[in-house]
Amino acid sequence: MNKPLLMLFCSALAIQSSVAADATSPATPTASKTISSPGALKKNPLLVKSALEFEYPAFDKIHNEDYAPAFAEAMRQHDAEIKAIAANPAKPTFDNTVIALERSGQTLKRVATIFFNQLGANTNPTLEALSGDLAPALSAHQDAISLNAQLFKRIQRLVEQKASLHLDAESDRLLDRYYTDFVRAGANLSAAEKEKLKSLNAQLATMENKFNQNVLKDTNASALVVDTKEELAGLSATEIETAAATAKAKGLDGKYMIPLMNTTGQPLLATLENRKTRQRLYEASVQRGSHGGEGDNREVVLTLARLRAERAELLGYANFAAYSLEDETAKTPAAVNKMLGELAPAGVANAKKEAAELQKLIDDEHGNFQLAAWDWAFYSERLHQQKYAFDDNQLRPYFELNSVLQNGVFFAANQLYGISFKERKDLPVYEPTVRVFEVYDVDGKPLAIFIADMYARDNKRGGAWMNNYVDQSGLFATKPVIANHLNIPKPPAGQPTLLTPDEVKTAFHEFGHALHGMFSQVRYPRFSGTNVPRDFVEYPSQVNEMWAVWPEVLKNYAKHYKTGEAIPQDLVDKIVASRKFNQGFTTTEYLSASLLDQRWHQLSSKQIPTDTMAFEATALKDAGVDFAPVPPRYRTPYFSHSFGGGYSAGYYAYLWSEVLDADTVEWFKEHGGLSRKNGDWFRQQLLSRGGSIDPMQSFRNFRGRDPEIEPLLVRRGLK
Ligand SMILES: [Zn+2]
Repeated sequence: MNKPLLMLFCSALAIQSSVAADATSPATPTASKTISSPGALKKNPLLVKSALEFEYPAFDKIHNEDYAPAFAEAMRQHDAEIKAIAANPAKPTFDNTVIALERSGQTLKRVATIFFNQLGANTNPTLEALSGDLAPALSAHQDAISLNAQLFKRIQRLVEQKASLHLDAESDRLLDRYYTDFVRAGANLSAAEKEKLKSLNAQLATMENKFNQNVLKDTNASALVVDTKEELAGLSATEIETAAATAKAKGLDGKYMIPLMNTTGQPLLATLENRKTRQRLYEASVQRGSHGGEGDNREVVLTLARLRAERAELLGYANFAAYSLEDETAKTPAAVNKMLGELAPAGVANAKKEAAELQKLIDDEHGNFQLAAWDWAFYSERLHQQKYAFDDNQLRPYFELNSVLQNGVFFAANQLYGISFKERKDLPVYEPTVRVFEVYDVDGKPLAIFIADMYARDNKRGGAWMNNYVDQSGLFATKPVIANHLNIPKPPAGQPTLLTPDEVKTAFHEFGHALHGMFSQVRYPRFSGTNVPRDFVEYPSQVNEMWAVWPEVLKNYAKHYKTGEAIPQDLVDKIVASRKFNQGFTTTEYLSASLLDQRWHQLSSKQIPTDTMAFEATALKDAGVDFAPVPPRYRTPYFSHSFGGGYSAGYYAYLWSEVLDADTVEWFKEHGGLSRKNGDWFRQQLLSRGGSIDPMQSFRNFRGRDPEIEPLLVRRGLK
């Protein structure tokens, strides 16, 4: 059974989960409608393994029109494979059932992997239309496997006879994993209940899609329009020109338009001097999905919450969170509530202290108003400059992209793990700015392919993420092909690409995921690399962020792009000193969103409220995080992680992973930091294990004990 395609939505907290679907795009053939001649299928580049080394995708041979027929054929093949396994007259064995399942669906996996990766990184209206058509088809395809009674009976039989099978540890775990996957997908239900489940799955897929479409629709519809240049004081000349051009393109000649970013905060709030404009921009942002009209999500949220609760109840759980968390390292809602509940008072107290400092700044300037949510970014930017006397623009000349990548990210990996990199210009890319590197292990043998897709483009989803094109696995003797995607604005031709400190951190973060994928050393693809619970998967990537500011690494990459001069030590000290700045705000807005995500999903179907916004307000108040200047990172009606799929009941995962991360950073420091010895231990005990052993056990094997929360509290200034 295929786990839903895993894509990691990163840059820690700056995440977007919805992929834009263009409602106006022309109709394209769907998977189910397409009929292709056998000759055409034979030539379809998606239906054969790539002949390139590492099975690297033949991007130069794949065309838009190949996907729909490839999906149809790959699903057909997979169905046939499943049917053969289920109907096998021989009695079930580990090989003829579990291994056979693990081997099945390879073509579908390849087609889906390439398709969804391209949909995120290199999309077009044809792919977007196809993705809409595919959602229900893939959901039904998955249901047909998960609810196949004959197939499940074979797995059940094997579980019953497990003691006599004498499986090795990884195989034992694989059998358990399949059994659990089937049970959680409804295999133990009666025929009538299975029908009900299928119907709920279909409704959920449709409603999640509607939620995401509404967010996109209302984000586009809520662009701020102002009449005069004066109202935009504080913006750069280019930003004002862009606003004028944007308005003109929408037929609003002579006005200025600021489109909303499809993320939480609106970046321009930090520089807009006109308080009224700030307020209008802020309100446009937080009222998305809850002010009537076509993109209103308030009812959609209630329907989704109810459907998820009903689905969980049908499967025997008290609520959706209980169902979802059982398969995470957190295990129970109580464990998540405990962590969030312990951190909330400290986070809010910190945020209130920060608010007082900002208020003082306002008062000193005789601002004569009370700090509001729309003032926070503006005054905290000012306070930051006052306290630390530097801004991103002073740092950027030291953070040239190629140096960050090769002398920073790659250098750190070389020092820790002994791996080396060589650029491959001979492998095809889907876009000319994408770079490909072959990665060599300590012994000089090929280890993996690394694809670096660093620049922002119109046809690329926002945020940053890592994905696999090919998983490492012993079963198929495959080596990993792994991509990192960032969204760094491309400078004009001839200009260097200079990164902000946040972009540098993101580059290290995503490469932490890449290492998790590249060092994987497991037999079964089901356990490869980042195939771990989502509240664990952000852990290795967050750990890798530590090397971005590690003195030996920094010294090696942070050199002025013109003069080659190393970054001045006083700037480095300031960066490090400023890391606790605004942590009260960051922690509180994240905790509030995590709490909302939990409250909604800890409801039973009987407890679904009738008023979305009233429920949100009460939930925040009850949790003690209703501090008006710091609203939740996402309000319910545009909280795509929670309601659009992906991180439903799982938004807490970043902080959960950060506990392990902070504790691991301490371990590295205790053991002398950047060294081969430390890197090898981390690789051997943790990065190479993927999901082949219990992830928390791999943490214990690495750390020598259970995780402790203390380092996280110190890091976030919560102590
Ligand atoms: Zn990540």
